[in-house]
Amino acid sequence: MTFQKFISQKNEEAMSHDKEESAVILLLEHVTGFETNSLYMKMNEEISEELVNKFNEIFDRYLNNNEPIQYLIGYSSFYGRDFTVNSDVLIPRFETEELVENILYRYDDYFKGQKIDVCDLATGSGCIAITLALEEPNMTVVATDISKDALNVAKINNEKFNAGVKFIQGDMLKPLGNRKFDIFVSNPPYIPDSELVDSLVKDNEPNIALFGGSDGMKFYNIILSGLKNHLKKNAIVAFEHGFDKKEEMEKLIEKYFPNSRHECIKDLEGKDRMTFIYLGDLK
Ligand code: GLN
Repeated sequence: MTFQKFISQKNEEAMSHDKEESAVILLLEHVTGFETNSLYMKMNEEISEELVNKFNEIFDRYLNNNEPIQYLIGYSSFYGRDFTVNSDVLIPRFETEELVENILYRYDDYFKGQKIDVCDLATGSGCIAITLALEEPNMTVVATDISKDALNVAKINNEKFNAGVKFIQGDMLKPLGNRKFDIFVSNPPYIPDSELVDSLVKDNEPNIALFGGSDGMKFYNIILSGLKNHLKKNAIVAFEHGFDKKEEMEKLIEKYFPNSRHECIKDLEGKDRMTFIYLGDLK
């Protein structure tokens, strides 16, 4: 059978399982080691039985074992780069690319050209920290996570992209010692514990990276309550959060940073997804 015929058969199989057709090419690239272009060059060639077997084994996990494509192929695209991922880290989400983009805009508005210190708390795969360090070389970035296993993945990505991020393991603000930052960012776990979550997510992604207490606000509370000591005089704090948490974020900000200027930013789906706080002269 030719590659072409094989691919169209597998596309149909994916569709009949209500799965993404696009996974077929990604998995085929993964098992052959070919890039998309060289795969297309081979469309009229015969596919070997060995490749068919290798493909079917992993395709079966995709179709019938409910495993995310990103963990099967071992990477996920974020801000134009392929980040290594496995089941020790959250799969980076589109919304988080927007968080990074908004931080980069505000760096230009408030700090342009200055060398600044940035902290990414609960870094997971390292996608936020590493992207910031690569997109803005004036940022010296420190990233933390409670999970050693997650940090191992983040370190792989840091080396792969030569991003120069420094990692420290520990719970929330504890590993930061007396470090102070100009920009502090976090996309902490924020799904309320009792919320029904798609089994593809809940059964595969680390639950420690998903759930944020009964109301999903647990980690913002912990972070904001101690954050003052870790911010320089003029600082920006940037959070990603649940789409229905704008008001609760405002309440927390009023409590810990009264009278500070802050804004909630919508994601591309029009949902309230990020909150930024501006401190000191950035008011
Ligand atoms: N900061 C990482 C990300 O945005 C991990 C977030 C998390 O584990 N909740 O992908």
